[in-house]
Order: sequence, then structure tokens, then C-alpha cells
Amino acid sequence: MVTVYRPETLEQALDKLAVGDHTLFSGGTDLMVRHSVRPGMSPSFCRDVVFVDAIDELKHITQASLEPDRDGGVDSGIFIGAGVTLSEIECHPLIPDVLRQSVAKIAAPALRNRATMAGNICNASPAADSLPALYLLDARVVLSSVQGQREMALEDFVLAPGLTQLRQGEMLTHVVIPQSDLPITFYHKVGTRAANALTKLSVAGLAKVKKGRTGKGKLVDWRVAFGAVGPTVVRSRELESLLIGQPTEKLAKPRFVNEVVGMYSEIIRPIDDQRSTAEYRHQASLNLLQRWLSQLSVQ
Ligand SMILES: Cc1cc2nc3c(=O)[nH]c(=O)nc-3n(C[C@H](O)[C@H](O)[C@H](O)COP(=O)(O)OP(=O)(O)OC[C@H]3O[C@@H](n4cnc5c(N)ncnc54)[C@H](O)[C@@H]3O)c2cc1C
Repeated sequence: MVTVYRPETLEQALDKLAVGDHTLFSGGTDLMVRHSVRPGMSPSFCRDVVFVDAIDELKHITQASLEPDRDGGVDSGIFIGAGVTLSEIECHPLIPDVLRQSVAKIAAPALRNRATMAGNICNASPAADSLPALYLLDARVVLSSVQGQREMALEDFVLAPGLTQLRQGEMLTHVVIPQSDLPITFYHKVGTRAANALTKLSVAGLAKVKKGRTGKGKLVDWRVAFGAVGPTVVRSRELESLLIGQPTEKLAKPRFVNEVVGMYSEIIRPIDDQRSTAEYRHQASLNLLQRWLSQLSVQ
């Protein structure tokens, strides 16, 4: 028989997770589908379930300077508790635009009122819509257990479809977004319809342009990430560095654009599945990359 726990403090939750094997349940929007048996029947769980949706200390979004003793941590950032729902993230003034836009494209309002970003991350789907924006923002995850806390870059945490670095007895308690100053945003999700659609692919971008004395722009930072076109999000800092420092007017030159698109064409290797074909995903990703470059060419 499966036992269900609903702790009200993080300490109680971690004590429970420390003993035995449990399924951690946040919003349950992935779990209820994964464990469904057949229409009209309750889902079936084979391990004890720990609901983490009643833990008040995980339901906040705060801006904070971080403690100096955190290994490899950043100095200051936005802390998003694991119990914060997607709807709360979508509306919160501290959340960067690119993340707000990508979260707003997940499913429909009723689901976003229940689902969490922590669940979206830990489910580690290649099509998880919050991930490309979080990769671009250099997000980090805080993992807690009775042994203490550890923190790592999100892109190190997500290993493969459905696989993360989460250890037994641990839970994700916070996502940390380091402070950044990247005011130009690009986000586009391709699905079968404009709203409430599963992702065929998505492209997210961030940039900063500085104007010189002549009024001409130069890219001081430029980033792009692709979702649902590989086992995990595709982002290449090496390719991004080739564009940083370039004048924005160069992004209107077909030869330069073709070179950039050609380099990304090599690293975007999608698969065919029930949502789309590899060929469509590959071409649509490159078309959106061109659109992102063209948007910046007039800055
Ligand atoms: C109809 C429908 C439409 C959807 N549309 C989209 C969409 O457009 N885009 C998209 O990206 N996703 C979509 N999803 C997937 C899902 O809603 C999201 O991934 C959601 O963010 C999951 O959050 P949750 O809180 O419900 O996770 P849960 O279902 O509670 O958990 C998901 C996984 O994460 C683990 N987990 C949860 N919280 C923690 C934690 N704090 N620490 C460690 N592990 C944890 C759970 O054990 C489980 O393995 C859709 C799902 C449905 C049913």
C-alpha cells in the first residue's frame, strides 16, 4: 500500500525523504499523466508519495545577495522557490521577460495555476518550455537533503531526457537567476496552434547592444538557445562568442548571416517523433535564428 505525506515545512519534507524511496509530487501535472492507468481510473503510484505543495517557505520569489560561503555561487540573484506556480512566475515583476514569455506559453491557465517550474525542470523533458530561457539566464539550482545543500548550474543538472543529477533523499528547493543586464529578448515557440500547444521546437534569445558615438550599434552580449531539437537544450557559448563585439549592421549582411546559420545547422540535430519531423524542426529553428539576427540588425 502507498502512503501519502504532505509536510508543511522543508525540514519535515527532508526528514521524510531521508528514509526510503519516495515520489516527490509538486503540481502533479506530469506525474498524473505518467502514472495514469486508463481513463476514469485514479493514477497508480508504486512508491510512497511526498506532496511538497504545502511548504510555505518554498512559495516565494525574492531578490537576494547570496551567502559568501556557497561554493561556486553567484553574488546576487532572483530566488524562485520550488513551490511557486507557473502562473505566479508569469505575473511576478522580478522575473526576466524571456522567462515570463516562455512560462506563459506552457499549456493553459488552469494547468499553470497548479504546475511548478521545479517540476518542469526535474521532469527533464527535451520539450520543457522553461528550460531554454533558464539556460540563457545561466540559472542555477539549489538541491537540499538532510545532509545539507548543494548548488549547480542548471545545464549541469539536466543530463538527458528524464534524467537529472538529483540524488535519492534530495529535492530541488530553489532556482537562482543571477543578476544580468540583457534588455533585448526573443522568444518563439512553435506548436500546432498559438495557445495550449505542446512544443515542436522553441528558440529563445537575449542580447545587449551598445550605441557608439555615430549611433551605430555593437553587440556587447548575444545568446540563443533551442528547445526540443536535441536530448537537452542546445546552447553554444563558443558560437555566441563569435558574434559578441560585432556591429549590429553586420547581422543584415546575407553572407555573415549564412555563416552563422551554417554553424548552428551543424549543432541542431533533432529527431522525428509524434509532434514533428526532424527536418521541419531543423529548418524552423534556423528560420527563427535568422529572425532573431534580423531583429538585432536594426538596433
Ligand atoms: C495537458 C498538459 C499540457 C502540458 N503542456 C506543457 C507545455 O506546453 N510545455 C511544457 O513545458 N510542459 C507542459 N506540460 C508538462 C507539465 O505540465 C510541466 O512540466 C509542469 O511544469 C510540471 O510541473 P509540476 O509541478 O506539475 O510537476 P510534477 O508533475 O509534480 O513533477 C514532475 C517531476 O518533477 C519531480 N519534482 C517535482 N518537484 C520537484 C522538486 N521540488 N524537487 C525534485 N523533484 C521534483 C517529480 O517527482 C516528477 O518526477 C503539460 C502537461 C499536461 C498534462
